[in-house]
Amino acid sequence: MSTAPVLELAGVTKHYPGTPPVRALRGIDLTIRSGELVGIVGPSGSGKSTLLHLMGTLDRPTAGDVRVAGHAVADLSDRDLSAVRARSIGFVFQQFHLLDGYTALDNVADGMLYTGRPVRERRELAAATLDRVGLGHRITHPTNKLSGGERQRVAVARAVMGKPAIVLADEPTGNLDSKSSEDIVDLLRELHAEGITLVVITHNREIADRFPRRVALRDGAVESDSAVGDA
Ligand code: ADP
Ligand code: MG
Repeated sequence: MSTAPVLELAGVTKHYPGTPPVRALRGIDLTIRSGELVGIVGPSGSGKSTLLHLMGTLDRPTAGDVRVAGHAVADLSDRDLSAVRARSIGFVFQQFHLLDGYTALDNVADGMLYTGRPVRERRELAAATLDRVGLGHRITHPTNKLSGGERQRVAVARAVMGKPAIVLADEPTGNLDSKSSEDIVDLLRELHAEGITLVVITHNREIADRFPRRVALRDGAVESDSAVGDA
């Protein structure tokens, strides 16, 4: 039995201006359902980050439809799109994107500023979420004093704390040594087992092979999708 779609892309293209223009995505059809853990794999330049930006409503397609948590991106103003993004999507990036000099707790609690919830409530939830990702003993550490693997755990805690419909991660292990990478992959698998929907971009096939569904991109098109059988 299949669950509700969280993310639907139909005929999505993305061209970047230039002479000639760059055809970064050339007609992507892809549906991600609630509770899935999907690895998107492909060589450098295949369009992975462009795809993540469109899935994350950080950019709009040149043509085609993107629907996130039931909202058609094309129907929304930039302002409404920001609200959908804040409520529905959690992001994890290769470079962590944390505020250095602030504690792990502040970094995670600030991720829910948009909710307008009282600071005490946000900090309690942030502490519980840091505990859940294995950082209960590091909550008052400034994030620049943490190891790479620990920093990425903080970023994962920030991404999942607001219970988004989907978490999108772009090369989350790209800056980590192999042991820390494995730990982060294990953490993402645990979160999936708890019911969180995740899309993880990687150029590393070994990492993608640890995810239940794998979508391979090549030259801006889906080359194979384990959910529909390899073409
Ligand atoms: P990947 O993440 O798989 O390495 P990208 O999505 O970053 O691939 O890039 C896909 C293609 O689009 C590449 O040829 C890249 O050079 C090009 N590209 C990406 N972003 C831009 C941009 N802002 N302007 C022009 N070209 C871009
Ligand atoms: Mg990329």
